[in-house]
Amino acid sequence: MLNRTDLRGRTPSPAELRAALPRAGTDVDAVLHLVRPIVDAVRERGAEAALEYGERFDGVRPSAIRVPAEERVRALAELDPAVREALEEATTRARKVHADQRRADVTTQVVEGGTVTERWVPVERVGLYAPGGLAVYPSTVVMNVVPAQTAGVGSLVVCSPPQAEFGGLPHPTVLAAAELLGVDEVWAVGGAQAVALLAYGGTDTDGAELVPVDVVTGPGNIYLTAAKRLLRGLIGIDSEAGPTEIAVLADDTADPAHVAADLISQAEHDPLAASVLVTTSERLADAVDAELARRVPVTKHTERVTEALSGKQSGIVLVSTVDDGLRVVDAYAAEHLEIQTADSRAVAARVRNAGAVFVGAYAPVSLGDYCAGSNHVLPTGGFARHSSGLSVQSFLRGIHVVDYSEEALREVAGKVVALANAEDLPAHGEAITARFER
Ligand code: NAD
Repeated sequence: MLNRTDLRGRTPSPAELRAALPRAGTDVDAVLHLVRPIVDAVRERGAEAALEYGERFDGVRPSAIRVPAEERVRALAELDPAVREALEEATTRARKVHADQRRADVTTQVVEGGTVTERWVPVERVGLYAPGGLAVYPSTVVMNVVPAQTAGVGSLVVCSPPQAEFGGLPHPTVLAAAELLGVDEVWAVGGAQAVALLAYGGTDTDGAELVPVDVVTGPGNIYLTAAKRLLRGLIGIDSEAGPTEIAVLADDTADPAHVAADLISQAEHDPLAASVLVTTSERLADAVDAELARRVPVTKHTERVTEALSGKQSGIVLVSTVDDGLRVVDAYAAEHLEIQTADSRAVAARVRNAGAVFVGAYAPVSLGDYCAGSNHVLPTGGFARHSSGLSVQSFLRGIHVVDYSEEALREVAGKVVALANAEDLPAHGEAITARFER
């Protein structure tokens, strides 16, 4: 069922590997021309333009973008108790992990009388996106809000697309999750128009101000990702977290039913989602194909899953050894990487590039999607080679505070002047010597 790439007996370079591996043909740059007019329209006409695009893409036009507080309260009151309990558990576990990420301010004594302190200061206002196109993601509200709150961000707004089925409000579980987490500002706006409105701000239909944010985080489809790429600079963003990806590195000790179920679980997000199996075992590859043939027709989102699995972004890569497999998964840099091999802990410890690594038979990606305590907003499209997933750090800035005494400055003055002159910037040196002229 899945396309196959056979790398056995070959030792491609990392660049050749990247070219040979299954990856989505649709790249973000290819939709920039569709998204730029949306961003421009929201910059010029604010909420009015955002509502027009919502009407076009989401099929509904809410009466205002800011969701009234009573809707959040009602959504939480009406939330299925089992879902509430699960969201509370997910939040408790995420808070536990994220609390340990908070960096302490550090002061370094450089010389006698001279210190540099790195102070970690939270961003003032952030926009957190919870997708709501093909699926709704209350779990993503948790994954965005917990690190922002842990970092100490004072002002948070959650955005999620308006849903026709709910009269133009975001999905009730998203509203309930926001209320549960203590978020008091939610906007019913999705996609590129949400990112643009968060970046530029605007005036709501009732005259209330939609205040622009400093940072936008959260996953979304290719249009949302394109808007983040276009607006980066005006706003800070987390890494680009686009259509989801799973790679599984497995040998013949893996259970094909587990592997197939996990490949399907991520394919169910999006027809553009990528599910890739890298294996040393042709027997496992055949067994996974057989499991997929059995499970895909009876899974709820058969159509979406079939499209994702048969796309050129998904497939099976056959390799000679687990070491070769590690080279492949490092070149691929998956958002989610499962290791299902003998001694999977030792293999996992050698992975260099991945958004998150899931070790062994009992840590499937679905656990990380909801309740592991780890964050599920992770870099896709190979960005895990240089970026991390969402964390407390995403909402902090490190500020160097430089504090030198007269004596400490005098001691290093000659060195500063020498470097300033070497760069033909003598006024820099004079700013030092001026202090010691009298
Ligand atoms: P979404 O909220 O990202 O997208 C819906 C919005 O897309 C709509 O509100 C609309 O404004 C816009 N849109 C739809 N068609 C458009 C068009 N033709 N032109 C311009 N804009 C258009 O929700 P989604 O579509 O369900 O996508 C969510 C994505 O997030 C999935 O790909 C999923 O895999 C991914 N995801 C990723 C992570 C991660 O951490 N990487 C986590 C969760 C979800």
